[in-house]
Amino acid sequence: MQEFYNETFLNAQKQLDHVAQLMNLDTGIHERLRYPRKALIVSVPIRLDNGQTRVYSGYRVQHDQSLGPTKGGIRFHHEVNLGEVAALAMWMTWKCALLNLPYGGAKGGVCCFPEEMSVAEMERLARRYTTEILSMIGPEKDIPAPDMYTNEQTMAWIMDTYSNFIGYAVPGVVTGKPVAVGGSLGRREATGRGVAHTVKMALEKLKLGTDVPTAAVQGFGNVGSITAKYLDLQGVKVVAVSDVQGGIYNPNGLDIPRLLSYVADRGTVIGFDELDSMENKDLLELDVDILVPAALANVITEHNAEKIKAKIVAEGANGPVTPEADEILQKKGVFIIPGILANAGGVVVSYFEWVQDIQHLFWSEDQVNEKLGYLMGRAFEEVYNISQAKKVDNRTAAMMLGVGRVASAKMLRGLYP
Ligand code: NAD
Repeated sequence: MQEFYNETFLNAQKQLDHVAQLMNLDTGIHERLRYPRKALIVSVPIRLDNGQTRVYSGYRVQHDQSLGPTKGGIRFHHEVNLGEVAALAMWMTWKCALLNLPYGGAKGGVCCFPEEMSVAEMERLARRYTTEILSMIGPEKDIPAPDMYTNEQTMAWIMDTYSNFIGYAVPGVVTGKPVAVGGSLGRREATGRGVAHTVKMALEKLKLGTDVPTAAVQGFGNVGSITAKYLDLQGVKVVAVSDVQGGIYNPNGLDIPRLLSYVADRGTVIGFDELDSMENKDLLELDVDILVPAALANVITEHNAEKIKAKIVAEGANGPVTPEADEILQKKGVFIIPGILANAGGVVVSYFEWVQDIQHLFWSEDQVNEKLGYLMGRAFEEVYNISQAKKVDNRTAAMMLGVGRVASAKMLRGLYP
């Protein structure tokens, strides 16, 4: 199945192979889990505002359905390709199982330059992409959610397009929707809130001996900005943040509430308080206690891992640390909170949203946040306990739990026919 092979997919497979060996995983199950169950490549033609027609490549990949329907975000980005989407789908499988959610993993995306597109073009792209993958999605089959450069509005367009085909409103077909069309209170902030929660738990375990821990956050979109907001509220001094245009740094700590409203107005962190700008790669190497990569995959590699000074790396993004870098960071004693745990808050509250949509019964924000805190806390403790008991790193422990749960379901269900 070489169709999927690219760096990110091979990294995801390598991680699976590593834990499969440690767990003595049944070879048949291991082989089945190494590849997605289903993948669709579609052409997404849209009319641009200037009257021309352009065709984009779209993908939807479902990795595993042993535990329930598949679940995973949709990304609009110029680096989207089949291998990346397949890797992200595989990570979603482990993440859902780790959090004990009744889902398998999926992911989707369209290769495009969203920053260069108008809102009207984005809407046409989202609607046509939805139409092309319509046969794959549905509340009982596969439920998309937001990811890079997609948001609540994108989900509303997808929900509307799907509902028009079905003939009635189907809010449960996507999560991360606006509350007005069946979204859940607390969903918008859930991923960043969850990242900050796992950092807090890590700080409690590690006892770094610093009164005010410092942090740097790469990416200031949904995940990065909300993580920064909650780290700040937890008493962490956030000294650097960045987005696609670059970063800003203030050793005395950034005024995060003011920065959040600045970014809401200007769309970038650049220019805030006339601070010096800093390159994204330098931000990663800052002397801080906590580093949160919350943008792209493969940003910490064997080339810069040795230079990482943070004691805790909380993966807001999916796959920001390559396996080679992972080994280097482990040797340096860095406490990594793997993405399948750190950024799981989003899918947890997506699950709550789906449950509320199906039951037509909505919860208060306090109920959502309390249940989120409980599930994240439980998963963190489980991972930490396994890492201590088996003397393995957190990623391996998290994967052992996630892969183990999927493998048990697969074993019980057997191989059809
Ligand atoms: P987003 O589109 O809201 O924000 C992305 C941010 O990354 C923006 O600030 C953008 O400027 C920045 N960025 C883009 N390219 C960059 C680069 N080359 N260097 C530095 N910054 C760059 O996306 P998001 O939803 O916050 O997702 C970020 C990451 O978190 C992705 O890896 C995604 O898969 C992961 N994630 C998201 C969710 C979610 O609920 N949204 C859940 C789990 C994981």
